Amino acid sequence: MVHIETLTVGAFESNCHILYRPESRVALVVDPGGDADRIIGFLRREKLQVAAYLVTHGHMDHIGALAKVCEQFPAPVGLKALDSAWAFMPANSWPPYYDTPRRPAEVLRDLKDGQKFTDGGLEYSIIETPGHSPGSVSFYFATEKVLFTGDVLFSGGIGRSDLPGGHAPTLLKSLHRLLELPDDVRVFSGHGPETTIGHERKTNPFLRDASWTK
Ligand SMILES: [Zn+2]
Repeated sequence: MVHIETLTVGAFESNCHILYRPESRVALVVDPGGDADRIIGFLRREKLQVAAYLVTHGHMDHIGALAKVCEQFPAPVGLKALDSAWAFMPANSWPPYYDTPRRPAEVLRDLKDGQKFTDGGLEYSIIETPGHSPGSVSFYFATEKVLFTGDVLFSGGIGRSDLPGGHAPTLLKSLHRLLELPDDVRVFSGHGPETTIGHERKTNPFLRDASWTK
């Protein structure tokens, strides 16, 4: 059993997912994108430690609170180097945010396709899913049948491919890779509600009609 708490944070209403086994009190934090005090407050209230930060990609609405949360709960940060190379630069501060995201003092783990990690007693693997940003990854927990997709796949939608480093045909390839997962895998996106692979395969209009890649 894994508990998944989703805090919707920041002006872009990004999802920060916090997952943990209730008996272990050791959490993994996916995409601490903003509202650091709320994330820290939740971790303190639930008496959780952090085993690792799992960052789907480098856009500031997914890493805006990373350094501040890391200061209170130090742990390694998984983020693909292709994105960490620009994530902490001034170009990554967009309105209404004007602060450049701070690089955390913690170890940055460069993520590679197929890598497996066990943090907080939970095993997961890395699926590289570029196209929204060059270093976007998804985190797949096969035992729990849970997938974190960042801004690649949403309930009824897909990520933008018109931002710097984005590429529509690459995004479509990444989406098709995710669709190889079983129907009953629960999908937790970077924005919006939870869905499943099966539901998106059947109903997602961007997967049924790929003319947006042209
Ligand atoms: Zn994004």
